[in-house]
Amino acid sequence: MSTPQRDTSRHSTPDVAIVGAGAAGLAAARRLQKAGYTVQILEAAGRIGGRAWTDTSAFGVPVDMGCSWMSGANKNSLVKHARALGYQLINHTEAPSQLFVEGRPATDAEEEAFEAARAALDDTLKTAGRKGFDGPAADVLPKDLPFSGTAQSWLGPMDYGVDFKDLSPIDHWDQADDQPSYLVKEGYGSVVASLGTGLPVALNTTVKRIDWSGSDVQIDTDQGTLRARACLVTVSTGVLASGAITFVPEMPIRQQEALHGVPMGLLVKVPMLFDGAKLGLKDNAWVTYKVPEDMPARACFFIGWPCGHDYLFGNIGGDLGWELSRAGADETVDFALGELVGMVGSDARKHFRKGLMTDWATNPLTLGAYAVERPGHKGARKALGKSLGKKVFFAGEAVAGERAALANGAYDNGRKLAKKIIKTLG
Ligand SMILES: Cc1cc2nc3c(=O)[nH]c(=O)nc-3n(C[C@H](O)[C@H](O)[C@H](O)COP(=O)(O)OP(=O)(O)OC[C@H]3O[C@@H](n4cnc5c(N)ncnc54)[C@H](O)[C@@H]3O)c2cc1C
Repeated sequence: MSTPQRDTSRHSTPDVAIVGAGAAGLAAARRLQKAGYTVQILEAAGRIGGRAWTDTSAFGVPVDMGCSWMSGANKNSLVKHARALGYQLINHTEAPSQLFVEGRPATDAEEEAFEAARAALDDTLKTAGRKGFDGPAADVLPKDLPFSGTAQSWLGPMDYGVDFKDLSPIDHWDQADDQPSYLVKEGYGSVVASLGTGLPVALNTTVKRIDWSGSDVQIDTDQGTLRARACLVTVSTGVLASGAITFVPEMPIRQQEALHGVPMGLLVKVPMLFDGAKLGLKDNAWVTYKVPEDMPARACFFIGWPCGHDYLFGNIGGDLGWELSRAGADETVDFALGELVGMVGSDARKHFRKGLMTDWATNPLTLGAYAVERPGHKGARKALGKSLGKKVFFAGEAVAGERAALANGAYDNGRKLAKKIIKTLG
């Protein structure tokens, strides 16, 4: 797939200025341009795509450092786009599962107990969420459930980016079904980046201040000032909460409170390149090992050889993810390799070539992986999505309703907000 060609011209007085060239910003820009409005996307990074990023330089093959599953594929707007452009989509819905217990492959009975634990946890959380329980998911765990810690590790830290104490059953209940799901051989990040073709994106342009006190909006960046009739902000809640962008006047208190109700969760990915040895692991397999039942588990579970590539990716989430991100890449890769050796044996060390750690935790343009509604903060996503004076609008994964935290959710939400802006501007 070729690199998308951006429009490098800059508009200093567009109809709409868009902060961020991730899935939401790109989707909104396409919709607005189609309707005849001038747009200018302002992107602080040196590339487009945001948290959708396929790296090809480290391993010489596509590695998704951010999103990799096209989830809820039957209703995922990006699937159609990817198909039209000829991307190879690998159905991951019925992917094999390989479970290890104390360094040996699990018995059939153990596999069944693990699957039962996953189903029981999901069911318990959804039931609690449906009944409106907004406390920590940790408070409604089924008692004496074998493999509970293992199932929790996938669902909490590695799926939502938080441990069960920080997960609200309501937020889980609110989310749409994530199956069927696909992996993209050329990378999901490159699908999202392809949305930028022909769009006016100013890279390496950091927005510092948004003044919405006048009849239009003034946007100050480190590369100069723009004036627009409306501004769409798509940065993560981590960036918003850090105060990197000053709003004048400030956001209303209710919205500031909402922001703190939707903090960033963290998933750290640890892509690990091998020399072609398969280590007994199957392509695209969910590779899991039994952890102690008490949480938080210090676990790194893997996806085996995604799309047949010669690398695995480790997943470390929640509190352990933040801790290891602070410790750095060497310690994190070491930890992941140790956990792999615990399953497949020391051969893994012989065949290992190199490993990486994604830095979403420390990257000032993300400050986490994706947003999660904290227990006790039902409604925060919605409150955060309110516009400021019908001039500054918010879009992105954090406010994407039943597809929150997802790339296609961000995309759909960007389009939705574009329509709202069109209606407002007339
Ligand atoms: C490790 C990981 C795994 C994931 N896995 C999946 C998955 O399997 N499936 C899935 O659907 N989703 C997944 N996601 C989530 C998905 O990637 C995001 O939900 C989606 O990409 C977010 O898009 P967005 O447009 O809302 O935000 P972003 O992509 O963050 O876009 C916002 C943009 O704003 C820019 N920016 C920040 N500050 C400024 C500033 N001051 N001035 C100008 N620009 C600024 C940023 O650089 C960024 O490009 C994953 C994410 C991560 C991190």
